This record gives sequence, C-alpha cells and structure tokens, in this order.
Amino acid sequence: MWEAIRATLRAECGARTFDNWLRPIEFIAVQGDTVRLALPTHFLADWISSHYLERLRVLWATHCPQVGHVVLSVQPAMRMAAPQAAPAAAPAAASAVTPPESCIGLPLEPRYSFDSFVVGKSNELAYNAARTLAEGGPVSFNPLFLHGTTGLGKTHLMHAIGGELRARNPNAKVAYLSAEKFMVEFLAALRAKDTISFKQRLRSVDLLMIDDVQFIAGKESTQEEFFHTMNEIISAGKRLVITADRSPQNLEGIQDRILSRMAWGLVADINAADYELRLNILHTKVAAMAESIGATVPADVIEFLARKITSNVRELEGALNRVVAYARLVGKPVTLDFTRETLADLLRAHEKKVTIDEIQRKVAEYYAIKLSDLLSARRAREVARPRQVAMYLAKKLTPRSLPEIGRRFGGRDHTTVMHAVKRIDELRAGDRELDGDVAALTRLLDS
Ligand code: ADP
Ligand code: MG
Repeated sequence: MWEAIRATLRAECGARTFDNWLRPIEFIAVQGDTVRLALPTHFLADWISSHYLERLRVLWATHCPQVGHVVLSVQPAMRMAAPQAAPAAAPAAASAVTPPESCIGLPLEPRYSFDSFVVGKSNELAYNAARTLAEGGPVSFNPLFLHGTTGLGKTHLMHAIGGELRARNPNAKVAYLSAEKFMVEFLAALRAKDTISFKQRLRSVDLLMIDDVQFIAGKESTQEEFFHTMNEIISAGKRLVITADRSPQNLEGIQDRILSRMAWGLVADINAADYELRLNILHTKVAAMAESIGATVPADVIEFLARKITSNVRELEGALNRVVAYARLVGKPVTLDFTRETLADLLRAHEKKVTIDEIQRKVAEYYAIKLSDLLSARRAREVARPRQVAMYLAKKLTPRSLPEIGRRFGGRDHTTVMHAVKRIDELRAGDRELDGDVAALTRLLDS
C-alpha cells in the first residue's frame, strides 16, 4: 500500500521533487486510525509537514479507509537502515535534499503553476505581473512585491514564476526561500564564519524569491544582510520577487531603506477572493480531482462551499479536500447534506452572526419602508407584512428567543412573534412572490 501511495506521489509531483523530498519518508506502522511515518531530519519533517501532510493523509485515507491521521517523526538512523535511500546517497543527509539547479533555497512545487492558478478581479494584477516577469523578457519593474493576507496565493504565484522561468530557460538559476530560511541560513553562515559563500550562493542566481518577508521584522542583522542582497540582485539586473502579508507601508519593524527599495518596484496586492472567483477555483479543483482520482462533486455542493467559506483559498481548498476524502473513506457520494454534516464544525466557525438590527435594516431597505415604521405600531399592510417577515427571519437566522425578538420589535408580545413565524411559513408554501422575497433576504443576510 505504501508503495502505491509513493507511486501516486511520484506521479503527482515529478521525479525530482519526489527523489529529493519524498523518497526519504519511511513507513513505520499503521496504529488504529493513525499512520506513522519517519524522516531522517527535522528540516525534512518540517517541510513535508507543511507541504505534503494533507496530501499524505488523503492518499492514505483513500487506500486504507480506517486512516484519519498521519504523524511524522524524526528518526535520524532511518536513513542508514534504508538500503535504497536517496540516489547516490551521500553520507550527509543534507546533501541528498539539496535541490538541484537552485544553489540555495527550497524546491519548487510543480503543482503551483500558472495553469493551476485561477484568475479573478482580486488577483489579476499580481497574476499579470508575475506572468510578465516569468516570461523572462525585459520588465520595467524590479522587485515585484506581492502582498495579501494568508491563503490567497502568494506562494503559489512565486512557485509559478520560478517554474515558468525554468521551463523557458532550463539554465536559469532560480532560488525560492522563505524569509525564515533566509535568516536561518544566514545565521548558520555567520556561526560557521562562512558568510562569503552564503552571499555568493544567493547572489549567483537569476531570480531570487523571498516569501513572507514580514518574518524578518525586528531582526536587525538579518535585515542588514537582506538589504545588501536586494541591492546587489537589483543592480546586477537579476530579478527579485518578495511577498509579505501586508503592504510595504504597513510592514512594521522593517528598516525604512528596505521598504523604500521594495516600493521602487511593482507593488501588487492580492485581495480576498469574491464569490465568483471562489466558485471558479472550486470548479477547477473539482475538475482536476475528477481526472486524478475520479471523484465527482455536484454543483450545489460547490456553490454551497463557495458561499460559506469566504476566509481564504487555502481554507476553501481544505474544505473541499476534506469532504471528498471523507466521502471516499466512508464510501458515500458527496451530497449537500453529507457536506453540511462533514463540515459542521468548520461551518460553525465561519458562520456569519446575523443580528436583529441587521435584519430590520435589510428588510426595511428591501421593502423600501422606513425603519421607524417597521418598528412602530402601525398595522397598515405595507408595513405589517414586512414586519412579519423581519420577525420570521429573526427567529430563523438568530438564536434569539421569541420574547426577546418581541421586545426588539417595539415591545411586542412573544405570541405576536410566534404568530408572525407561523403565518410566513404558511404563506411561503403558497405565495411564490413572498417565498422569493424571503429567500432573497435570507441570502442577503446569511452569506
Ligand atoms: P499564501 O502564500 O498567500 O498564504 P498560498 O499560495 O499558499 O497562499 O495558497 C494557499 C492555497 O490556495 C494553495 O494550495 C494554492 O494553490 C491555493 N490558491 C490560492 N489562490 C489560488 C488561485 N487563484 N487559484 C488556484 N489555487 C489557489
Ligand atoms: Mg505563503
């Protein structure tokens, strides 16, 4: 079974990434619902954990239905014991994981390509800038600074730039590294009194990409080195790409000279994905899943997820993967009910808290009546019906009790609220127009 999973991983991520990063994984045991795997170094274990843990879990779950968790541990001796360790197994574990071609940095993830990146209004500036840069022609900006909150595709775009540049020019030296790794490498070089070779390795690249630069906030010696690296890369005409979780103006604890250097280039923001983009992303991922594992996801589930999971793309993707993996695990089709059940805890966390105030405002606006009329004692039909609708929505969309809702509607009795809820329920069954109004208001309020 482990062999089959390894084969799938190898096919998915390519021989090179597999050999350098995934091959060293050792299978230890399946215990209950947990698979135990081991890696020879902490560095590898961290990397696998941040890049492949979810994928490993899903693959295990599809092959071995009882498995729900994957636990990684570090066992330095494993490598020695493994006869087929990395090819040309060098004595030092570290040399087996040094990615080829890039002289420093982390390997590029082939799944993060331009092709798999879905473009919408919120990310098109960043996407276009990234593409232009990756095409390798003359560009008028350097560096490219991408910023946006977590899970919106910054790292994905960086890998896509590197992958595309290398595809067009196999000799191009590309280095991708997190700002954290930059710091760790730099400090290690300092300790080893070998900063010269650190500088050389970094500055010999054609494209340098530093991810999550906010990490070096407050780290003065690292910033010093980073500033010189930036300058040398730029003045040598090499390309520099930087990402952060916020714009240069809002980065605190970073030296002004670094910020102004960054702002010289092109600063492109990535905003939260709107509904349309969320939907497109899900459709794309679902199509890919259908091809790779034959999973199908109906349109209503896709729409439901796009509507409910608004935080970021990583969570959206995670929710989809979770539903699909779990459905395969228990051998059920993915339906809307199944999705609601599987994601109940997640959805609760994402639940938008609808308030009575908001309901009253939206209903008044929708029916074009005054808020004060909605809350008044007036019994005219053009205000009485919207008022009943508002009470109905307050009961259905908030956890408030009937007496409390009554109080909030101009001090009415709880029986009035109960009557309104019953009345609207009855009317919805026969009155298409009213039913449509209530549905539209629910959507407005609840998404
Ligand atoms: P960030 O680095 O901004 O925190 P990532 O690049 O790690 O975000 O993206 C999180 C996940 O969401 C990744 O799996 C990535 O492939 C996916 N993702 C983000 N934006 C898009 C997009 N526009 N199209 C397809 N996948 C996306
Ligand atoms: Mg990232």
